[in-house]
Amino acid sequence: MSESIADGRPDPTCLFCRIAVGHIPATIVASDERIVAFRDINPAAPTHVLVIPRLHVPSAAGAHAFPGLWDAVMTAATRVAAAEGLDETGYRLNVNTGADAGQSVGHLHVHVLGGRAMSWPPG
Ligand code: 5GP
Ligand code: ZN
Repeated sequence: MSESIADGRPDPTCLFCRIAVGHIPATIVASDERIVAFRDINPAAPTHVLVIPRLHVPSAAGAHAFPGLWDAVMTAATRVAAAEGLDETGYRLNVNTGADAGQSVGHLHVHVLGGRAMSWPPG
């Protein structure tokens, strides 16, 4: 995934850009001017929420070009985890980046996973 194409403009062909603007339905759990958080359509844990920037940033690679982006996304992720009641039991924040990590949607997203014990290392 090239970082040279990342200028943050919405991509009308991008699934998560379309969710962010409401063109594709999703179960939104948090939203502000910078991020949208919604439940994963194929949950891998009792809580599985995706937090995305409204900017179209293809992956974590190149996200440094957007000042404040990580602050907005990661702060929202930890707030979602708290709102889901996961502070006591714990949770995992996961950012699949590129082919080897199995990234399947080319719009930066943080997985918030919790509600069950998880193993390490990942597969
Ligand atoms: P990745 O594999 O790129 O790290 O994660 C992409 C995630 O997006 C997967 O967990 C997948 O289940 C989720 N996903 C794919 N399509 C949709 C969709 O249309 N709606 C929602 N809510 N989640 C989706
Ligand atoms: Zn996008």
